[in-house]
Amino acid sequence: PHNIILQRAPCTCDLILFTALTTPKPEPSTLLFGKQFSDHMLTINWSEKGGWESPQIKPFQNLSLHPASSALHYSIELFEGMKAYRGVDNHIRLFRPMLNMERMHRSADRSSLPLFDKGELLECIKKLVEIDQEWVPYSQDASLYIRPTYIGTEPSLGVSRPGKAMIFVIIGPVGPYFSTGSFNPVSLLADPAFVRAWKGGVGAYKMGGNYGPTIAVQNEAVKRGCQQVLWLYGQDEEITEVGTMNLFIYWTNEKGEKELVTPPLDGIILPGVTRQSLLDLGRSWGEFKVTERTMGMKELLGALDAGRVLEVFGAGTACVVCPVGSLLYKGKMYQIPTMQNGPDLAKRFYKELTDIQVRASPHLYPK
Ligand code: PMP
Repeated sequence: PHNIILQRAPCTCDLILFTALTTPKPEPSTLLFGKQFSDHMLTINWSEKGGWESPQIKPFQNLSLHPASSALHYSIELFEGMKAYRGVDNHIRLFRPMLNMERMHRSADRSSLPLFDKGELLECIKKLVEIDQEWVPYSQDASLYIRPTYIGTEPSLGVSRPGKAMIFVIIGPVGPYFSTGSFNPVSLLADPAFVRAWKGGVGAYKMGGNYGPTIAVQNEAVKRGCQQVLWLYGQDEEITEVGTMNLFIYWTNEKGEKELVTPPLDGIILPGVTRQSLLDLGRSWGEFKVTERTMGMKELLGALDAGRVLEVFGAGTACVVCPVGSLLYKGKMYQIPTMQNGPDLAKRFYKELTDIQVRASPHLYPK
């Protein structure tokens, strides 16, 4: 059904383009996350013998994999999540994409997958977005989600470094996380029986194997009347992440100072691009302390009890920031006054970041 034209791109990476007829684009308001994909995809194959092959942009299609492929057996798989935004000036921009490329490179290294050139991969992704630019919604609330994926395709069952691998990138439009005007708080299940990541493990990498096992816990949270999971860790029940977001607490600390706290990158935290951006913005304002440090449940509940917690929110590409309204811990529901406090800081971060993303506010570009 596709009208395929083959052309060689005048690109440093010797990109091969196979272009397809375009299909009608869905209305941004009808978009469900991860269900619609654009007309094209990017694939880049690697083998021990031949190294990297020319990247290909071709019509969106199924993959053909050997059933012994190492991704399917040993979860040699990693991914990224980033977005392209259509600005009010109609220019399409990626937000700090090199941070995603660097994280992907670290995930590849930890997965025994061959390393790649971060700049070249980003150029290929930009080309894919350019070709499917009509898929970037004409809306300031919706955007184009970009899913770079890297899998081991070694066709043999030995538990060893794959001799074949593939990077592929699929993209698709996604709607607004918060429906117009609403900034709804989420309720969290905090149960130390469940652990997302541990010291010496791979929680800091975006490997598929970190995500599949969380679904049953997420379902458990819903069963207990909560929307998401607050992941705890260790003897002190350190608060680490919320669902698939980094966690921020804005409070008045023991010294009476206003402080923004987020857990440090000590191996169990995914180094979020949004997390880094909030830290950068908060530090650039210089209006309150910005601290990366651990905080246990006991300390959080003590501060909550003393009325020192102002706002708790998650941060990630999907929502930018997501306010937290309550916490179910050991059978008791604790209210968190995020919404009662505006939430001033969460809203300010939301506005600043979306201004950068769609109104091309100069902060944080071009890195
Ligand atoms: N934590 C986890 C576990 C995640 O999967 C994500 C999403 N990548 C984040 C935090 C937020 O990261 P980012 O800001 O880069 O989307």
